[in-house]
Amino acid sequence: MNEEELEKYRRAGKIAAEARNLGVNLVREGKTYLEVAEEIEGFIIDRGGKPAFPVNLATDHQAAHYSPGINDRKKISAGAIVKVDVGVHVEGYIADTATTVEVGSERHRMLIDAASIALENAVSLCSHEVAVRKIGGKIEETIRALGFVPVSNLTGHEIKRYLLHGGKSVPNIQDNNGDVIFAGEVVAIEPFASTGSGYVDSDGRSNILRIVRERKLDTELQEFYSLLKQNFGALPFSPRWCLNLDAHAGEKLTKLMKYGVLYEYSILSDTRRGMVSQAEHTVIVGKEGCEVITK
Ligand code: MN
Ligand code: MN
Repeated sequence: MNEEELEKYRRAGKIAAEARNLGVNLVREGKTYLEVAEEIEGFIIDRGGKPAFPVNLATDHQAAHYSPGINDRKKISAGAIVKVDVGVHVEGYIADTATTVEVGSERHRMLIDAASIALENAVSLCSHEVAVRKIGGKIEETIRALGFVPVSNLTGHEIKRYLLHGGKSVPNIQDNNGDVIFAGEVVAIEPFASTGSGYVDSDGRSNILRIVRERKLDTELQEFYSLLKQNFGALPFSPRWCLNLDAHAGEKLTKLMKYGVLYEYSILSDTRRGMVSQAEHTVIVGKEGCEVITK
């Protein structure tokens, strides 16, 4: 990685960390999810970055992939366990970071700590030529020692330019993944701790979309598709962001989903409805150790 790339990753990381911290302060009883997401996304743009994906605010047994939709009225409740997961890119150089907030109470303090301690332990292992299963093993061991279950079918991931999931995965358990990380690679580490099964499954619509394939379209739809491609490339985006691209964005998005051009992620929830916490940092792997860009 050259100095210029490094500088862009660092800038993305700094904005992402500030946006995450802002999110922690915004998540309050009675606020709408929409207000929180829009304020965070607005902050990212004001700071000179772009959201690398819609702000994710998965709550309670939802582990990941919920972002408020257009006119979403859902309000944050007292006692909710909200994962604030934020992505920022600067010219395609992406930083991905998350933390968990319990709204107005501290009943799940240990659960929240379990994910962040697991993250700290995992990050301290990240270095040139380390096996990802060793990192996963550390995450699993940490979370289990604190009395919780790691979510086994959600993973950290390598990041590449304009690509959120860039190839390698970093498991949250000691599985049989044979990958090794190398100096210069960018990796998001994201432990999830659960009071339930530690296994997530599809649980409704996320309002998070992504272009997954090209297809011949009529002229009007093709124009809209080109705008999406130009603005978001292969990165996940929100239907909310499409309203200023096209007045009829809603119906066009529906068509593109029907044609298989767009994919909508599912909310992923713990199958036994356990409470789930998450913590995430993006690191640049070094020859010895790593640099956390989202501190
Ligand atoms: Mn994330
Ligand atoms: Mn991630």
